[in-house]
Amino acid sequence: AVPWRPGTATPGQPRAAGPRCDPVSDSGGATHPLPPNGSIPPFDGQEGVWLRCALHVHTSASDGWLTPLAQRRAHAWAGYDVLALTDHDQYTAEPPGDGEPLVIGGTELSLTAPKSAGPLHLLGIGITKQPDVDRDATLDEAAKAVRAAGGLPFLAHPVWSGLRTDEVEGIDACAGVEIYNASCDIEQDRAHAGAQTDVWLAMGHRLSLIATDDTHYPGFDDFRAWTMVHAQERSRAAVMAALAAGRFYASTGPRITALAVHDGVLTVRTTPVRSIAALANPPFGAQVRAGVHSLAYGGRRLRTGDGQALEGINEGDHLTGAHFAWNSAARYIRIAITDERGHRAWSNPIWPA
Ligand SMILES: [Zn+2]
Ligand SMILES: [Zn+2]
Repeated sequence: AVPWRPGTATPGQPRAAGPRCDPVSDSGGATHPLPPNGSIPPFDGQEGVWLRCALHVHTSASDGWLTPLAQRRAHAWAGYDVLALTDHDQYTAEPPGDGEPLVIGGTELSLTAPKSAGPLHLLGIGITKQPDVDRDATLDEAAKAVRAAGGLPFLAHPVWSGLRTDEVEGIDACAGVEIYNASCDIEQDRAHAGAQTDVWLAMGHRLSLIATDDTHYPGFDDFRAWTMVHAQERSRAAVMAALAAGRFYASTGPRITALAVHDGVLTVRTTPVRSIAALANPPFGAQVRAGVHSLAYGGRRLRTGDGQALEGINEGDHLTGAHFAWNSAARYIRIAITDERGHRAWSNPIWPA
């Protein structure tokens, strides 16, 4: 076998040494620092527990079909550890129960997008009282009201809402955005907010990424997505602290088990998947996929057109990890993985500084 290293031609596909295009000049010459060595939170070995959280759930208190009590029981049976009942424009009191799952406060505020005039929905996760907000409030005002009510504001389903990227002034007051919403997926195939999110991240907005069901109807839009939160313990205070610190990842199935940087190389480990992508500010990014790209099963090394080095970690026919060289054109990198059944998981963005 021919040893492979960045900047050399792939065996069998001779071409001039060096990258085909220069990522740095392609990005207007902007360069960004490389991240320091170390494990990336929440994969940093801190003591705590992993909690499977449903952070966007409706009940019969608004337009969901199950009562708050039935919704709590359903989520207990489905193996959730934490539940935020996020009824439209109201605070739903904790239903009776034996503590399973832990119920933290929630709401979904109805605002109006300032330019498109479409529905702009803002989750208030972990609130202890209903925020004082009306429909004419700006995103900034609503997000600050959520924080004043003890919660964290997350922008809901931006694709379903049809939000323009130039009408989210105030997004910096948000903790994050739904990268995936199962209800929008089932109803309309409008689940994935990756494209909009990367635009906002590239602009420098430091948003965390959650996956939710937006449950309304049993058997239809429930138990398809969750946010895995690493908290010191299973309490409201610890969950809120972990959410505020970005100690979580989003999933519809597969798990991310490790994330670390060493000498400019980002390494991710996962449960078995068919593809692993490292997404940076567009147009930068790279993906390894099992079994394609002359990655015959058992093969593992690739390079992208722009010269980025990447290498998959294979176990049998699947990938269980990958190494990505961190390019100085990357302002941030986030990981997205997809398993054999199309189920996905998303890390939070990693910012070097
Ligand atoms: Zn909504
Ligand atoms: Zn909703």
